[in-house]
Amino acid sequence: MARYKDSVCRQCRREGMKLFLKGDRCYTDKCGVVKRHTPPGQHGQSRARKQSEYGIQLREKQKCRRTYGVLESQFRKYYTMATNMRGVTGENLLSLLERRLDNVVYRLGFGESRPMARQMVNHGHVLVDGKKVDIASYLVRPGQVISIRSKSRDLAQLKELREQGANKIVPKWLTLDTENLSATVTALPQRDDIDLTIEEHLIVEYYSR
Ligand code: SF4
Repeated sequence: MARYKDSVCRQCRREGMKLFLKGDRCYTDKCGVVKRHTPPGQHGQSRARKQSEYGIQLREKQKCRRTYGVLESQFRKYYTMATNMRGVTGENLLSLLERRLDNVVYRLGFGESRPMARQMVNHGHVLVDGKKVDIASYLVRPGQVISIRSKSRDLAQLKELREQGANKIVPKWLTLDTENLSATVTALPQRDDIDLTIEEHLIVEYYSR
């Protein structure tokens, strides 16, 4: 399967903000955005030009796509799905991305970042309704139970999560049982549940050109 192979910190520098792709490191002074404020590449340090309307829409789309770690073709598929759903297209798009299994694993704190959560899914550590699901793009549905395979319960990051217990905050469309490392999807995620500074209407404008 195709995947992004360049430095992930370059992606944050390109978008000019932290996308939190490296777990704990993102909260330290070693963060690429903290160390270097300029965009990556040969012309990164030249004076910034005023962005066109198209440029602003493109950057918003890229920021969203990179936050969730989705490649362009798959992102466009989500957009098409969102347009075919009832409701506001931009909100539908974010809801679909939020329902990805790797994102859910990240939101529950099973993985420190979305890339790490994706690796956990790919390596078969995650169960949905008691069955192994190793497809990161799997979309969870209300009523499903996400848990960690019994053999994988001693992973270091999961020990930390158990210690946090009830103090671990998760989005309100999920309920987490830290002791048993399992969670239930109680509803579909709504826009208010998604704490990302993304202007989704710009993404819709980008694809509607
Ligand atoms: Fe982005 Fe994290 Fe790298 Fe900082 S450390 S640039 S937030 S991936």
